[in-house]
Amino acid sequence: MAIDIHERLENILRIYPPRLAALKRLGIETVRELLYYFPSRYIEFSGLKKSDELISGEHASFVGVVVSAGSERSWNKRIGIATARISDEAGMVKAVWFNQPYIASKFKPGMRVLLTGKVLERKGELYFGNPKWEAIGGEGLSEDVQTPGRHMIPVYSETYGISSDWLGGHIGNMLKKVDEIPEILPKDIIEKYHLPPVKRALIAMHFPKKLPETEAARKRFSFEEIFLIQLDRHIQRKKIEEQKGIGIKPDEEIVKKFKESLPYLLTGAQERVVGQILEDFSKPHPMARLLEGDVGSGKTIVAAVASLNVVSQKFQVAFMAPTEILARQHFEEFTKRLQPFRTTIGLLTSSESRKFPSKVAFKSSAEISNNQLLKLVLGGEIDILIGTHSLIQDRVKFKNLGLVVVDEQHRFGVDQRSRLLKTKNIPHLLSMSATPIPRTLALTLYGDLDLSVLDEMPPGRKRIITRVVSSRDRGQTYEFIRSEIRKGRQAFVICPRIERKDESKPAATPAAMIQRLRMSEMKAVKEEFKKLKETIFPEYQIGMLHGRLKPKEKEDIMRAFKDNKTNILVSTSVVEVGVDVSNASIMMIEGGERFGLSQLHQFRGRVGRGEYQSYCFVFTSNDSGKSSERLKALQEAKTGFELAEYDLQIRGAGQLSGTSQWGVSDVGMDALKNIKLVEFAREEARSIIEKDPKLENHLMLSQRIREVVKNIHFE
Ligand code: ADP
Ligand code: MG
Repeated sequence: MAIDIHERLENILRIYPPRLAALKRLGIETVRELLYYFPSRYIEFSGLKKSDELISGEHASFVGVVVSAGSERSWNKRIGIATARISDEAGMVKAVWFNQPYIASKFKPGMRVLLTGKVLERKGELYFGNPKWEAIGGEGLSEDVQTPGRHMIPVYSETYGISSDWLGGHIGNMLKKVDEIPEILPKDIIEKYHLPPVKRALIAMHFPKKLPETEAARKRFSFEEIFLIQLDRHIQRKKIEEQKGIGIKPDEEIVKKFKESLPYLLTGAQERVVGQILEDFSKPHPMARLLEGDVGSGKTIVAAVASLNVVSQKFQVAFMAPTEILARQHFEEFTKRLQPFRTTIGLLTSSESRKFPSKVAFKSSAEISNNQLLKLVLGGEIDILIGTHSLIQDRVKFKNLGLVVVDEQHRFGVDQRSRLLKTKNIPHLLSMSATPIPRTLALTLYGDLDLSVLDEMPPGRKRIITRVVSSRDRGQTYEFIRSEIRKGRQAFVICPRIERKDESKPAATPAAMIQRLRMSEMKAVKEEFKKLKETIFPEYQIGMLHGRLKPKEKEDIMRAFKDNKTNILVSTSVVEVGVDVSNASIMMIEGGERFGLSQLHQFRGRVGRGEYQSYCFVFTSNDSGKSSERLKALQEAKTGFELAEYDLQIRGAGQLSGTSQWGVSDVGMDALKNIKLVEFAREEARSIIEKDPKLENHLMLSQRIREVVKNIHFE
């Protein structure tokens, strides 16, 4: 019976419910998804022997099926011994592990395993002594695997409730039963880039015979994933281009005056980006631009120039920031810079926030009720409205919105961002991000946006001195920090969450998962707080910030730190301290090896905002080669973008099995290491959408895009 590739697995296989749930967590619900679940790595080996070819004293590899397994104690009861009997078609062999009795419980009869190790002999019986072992693909692989000379065995990354064995076995069966796998890549692309056709490529991924063949297959799927994401983005982009924009003439005069009013010169990068934005304003369709720039690269002032130009043509600006503190900071900065140009600026805060009332600033700033403010916005008397998520309420209505600016765009969902654009006349969009990501990834995820990069820092910034601190130098470093605080400086402390024992078990719901994360973060912060407070810096005021606090509590704690009422602020990694505290000159990061480089770089960007020489100390708890090499890059890289590229390149295949934080699969991430491949995919996607904007002549492609894109986080 032939099986349709879109069939749901539970309709054709008897799968017991917990396993079905585990599959779902891996994103596997249909036959297609099972076939596209690729091995995370391959075991390569040589010297594969049958059971009747084993010779005592030699090193060998052996593949067979577990017949039985058990554990016992040695004669003197001191040592736990695990034994297993494993058979192939030529006979049976025994394996023995000393001091690892738990191994026996992992061997289930019927399971297919690969053993590698030394063959020993006792009383005329051959056995493997303490062999290395792996569970490998099941029955579907049997004939192939047992052929001597085969050198690669696929290993699938496992998850709680589902084994590599199970996956391998069923993928093998499905590949036999599914007779037609539609080729979704256009024929000319397959030919042009010499990609293997889909079925052959799937077989090469799951039943590898020769490395070059498997590599070619991997390249194909890698290209395919990136191409599909690009297609989706180009469809979006085409939609934007077909909309009518609000024409805003670049007002050279006012831009010049604004620049003259600044206490500094714009950097070359800022000038360039301002030019790009003004050019976009005058195009017939709305601007959709992403501005990326390291923390401190001066994105705010770019947004201010753009806003001023919009306001000078009697249109309004909405500026959305992720937290109230940031919104307030922007309000103050905008008020300071734009007051000479007679703009009226409003700050909309959430209504329960008594501490930070909504404000309006024209000649000077005054408190105002939300209702009054919204009336002014509707009447067109407010030129620029700044706020948090509070801007996306139905009751916030503009008279003639011309520009939407979203700061720290990744902190908002895609829906939240686009809600602001849903007005009759589509306003221009400037999205800003301080998360440096590799160029290939930006081109892929944000293919619908135009990209501007602020790759130059304002002059005169002191470089933040970064040190990776091993446990030996901890005491000395604390002393240094003490001396800085004594001089009046402040310090941030970031700690990773504490992992719990039951972590590998899945949480029942996403909400339970988040709850669990927050609990473990809070625990980490509390422990660090206690340690610092009681034994290291008892003489100083220490504040504590974590995800389980209420928004208002967080704001209060942040404020106390900003006002220098606390000397040290201990925080989790998630509570982003995206605020300017120019007096803070020390960033201390615990468990540095647990964070990604870009993330460490983000933390570091929290200091060095004032006049003082600043320091970043990354404490590590293990000094393994790879992690210290990685951390060394942090000491040397000049920009976050450099680090992001480095992070991508050292990400080995299958190393972070599963998907990346953006939902791009491991195989897809491979393509991102190759700018040429990404550019090809982009070019091909563009040319298809140019001819067939809604993919009406490419229905299979369009279905496949939906399947792939549902996993991607475009944020
Ligand atoms: P970010 O890109 O992280 O949002 P900001 O816009 O907050 O950075 O800018 C960081 C600091 O740099 C601010 O204090 C701002 O006034 C200052 N700044 C911005 N542009 C320049 C410049 N061209 N020269 C000197 N200082 C600048
Ligand atoms: Mg900013």
